[in-house]
Amino acid sequence: MSAPIAERLARVRDRIAAAARRADREPDAVALVGVTKTVEPERIEQAAAAGLTLFGENRVQEALPKVDQLPRLRWHFIGSLQRNKAKQVVGTFEMIHSLDSIRLARAIDRAAADRGLVADVLVQVNVGGEETKSGIEPGEALAELVREAAHLEHLRIRGLMTIPPFCDDPEAARPFFRRLRAEAEALGRLDLPGLSLGELSMGMSGDFEVAIEEGATMVRVGSAIFGERPRP
Ligand SMILES: *Cc1c(COP(=O)(O)O)cnc(C)c1O
Repeated sequence: MSAPIAERLARVRDRIAAAARRADREPDAVALVGVTKTVEPERIEQAAAAGLTLFGENRVQEALPKVDQLPRLRWHFIGSLQRNKAKQVVGTFEMIHSLDSIRLARAIDRAAADRGLVADVLVQVNVGGEETKSGIEPGEALAELVREAAHLEHLRIRGLMTIPPFCDDPEAARPFFRRLRAEAEALGRLDLPGLSLGELSMGMSGDFEVAIEEGATMVRVGSAIFGERPRP
């Protein structure tokens, strides 16, 4: 028997607070994004009733009906995004975690301009250099993307996001989290006007405590709250 969602959520919150304290940080400085892919609306409601306010989905098709059904919740888009779907995401999700090309940045900017708003985005960085992972390469490619996107009027880059190479040992992710933070600091030194890269979206069920110790301001946690997902 798995614990009810409220109990699992409470446990995750305790672990977030403990990790923050270990790093001399305020627990409130870490936002919890509950990842609800494959989770049906009834169980999302249970998490909302238990106080979770922020939710993440990674596929447009799956997400939109849920967002329609649960419109008073706050939603982030965390999966890779095709340019032709930017219109469906901008305005519906309060943040996009997965900007990884200038062409996508332009598509998001256009969609936001059409709706008369400014889209908040994070740049997804492939810190592990894995062929199969999306995200822009760290270093010069990242700097170039940020420099160009900084000119777009309807898009605001708020920080960086990463998914490190998968490993059972959470400690193995630490150098990648550290690297993401260093990349954000390096971009900060470029001193681009209007750019503030305060957000670091890193850490999932298996490694969010390590991510918090390394400076995460948002953790994206699915299975630790909602239980194991069915295998695809
Ligand atoms: C599924 C997913 C998560 C959450 O994964 P868990 O291991 O279940 O916590 C986080 N980020 C992204 C981008 C995801 O697709």
